[in-house]
Amino acid sequence: MLKLVKHPDPVLKQPATTWEFGCEWPSADEIEDQMLDVMMAEKGIGLAANQVGLLKRVFAIKLSTGRSFCMFNPRVISTSEKMQSGDEGCLSFPDLWLEISRPMEVVAEYFDKNAQECKITLTGLDARCFLHELDHLDGVCFTDGVGQLKLALAVKQQQQRKSYENRYQMKRCKYTTGAQNED
Ligand SMILES: [Zn+2]
Repeated sequence: MLKLVKHPDPVLKQPATTWEFGCEWPSADEIEDQMLDVMMAEKGIGLAANQVGLLKRVFAIKLSTGRSFCMFNPRVISTSEKMQSGDEGCLSFPDLWLEISRPMEVVAEYFDKNAQECKITLTGLDARCFLHELDHLDGVCFTDGVGQLKLALAVKQQQQRKSYENRYQMKRCKYTTGAQNED
């Protein structure tokens, strides 16, 4: 079973190599199943192979239509000049949110698990997700293009969120313990 890798694991900084159909183990079919399992368990909409410690050019994506699948050897054909700005998160950086500007539309090519070449046009969040995952395959994380000050502020907010969650969980623990004592 594949396991989610988190920052600062160095595998997140390493570029992935081409997926060779028929030569890889596990097979494309199995990798798709396993990566979709991890992505769904973590409630993500994208998961690059680097994020499960595998340096191969493949990522899982969940499109806004609800369709979830893997793209093997994905590449950008063209991007729109029109940009979109929005909050972006990453499963490997829990609770960290950064405002990132990306093209509104992407035309891309990839291979599906059956080694069929596919062309797809993605817009909005789907385009954002595709480009985020493609960056992972090049060893680039969404924190890399962000200024030091902006990143420091986002990390502070991340820590505040974490300490709030810890307090909340502690309360929950106390409550559970209390309830057990009543038995
Ligand atoms: Zn990510």
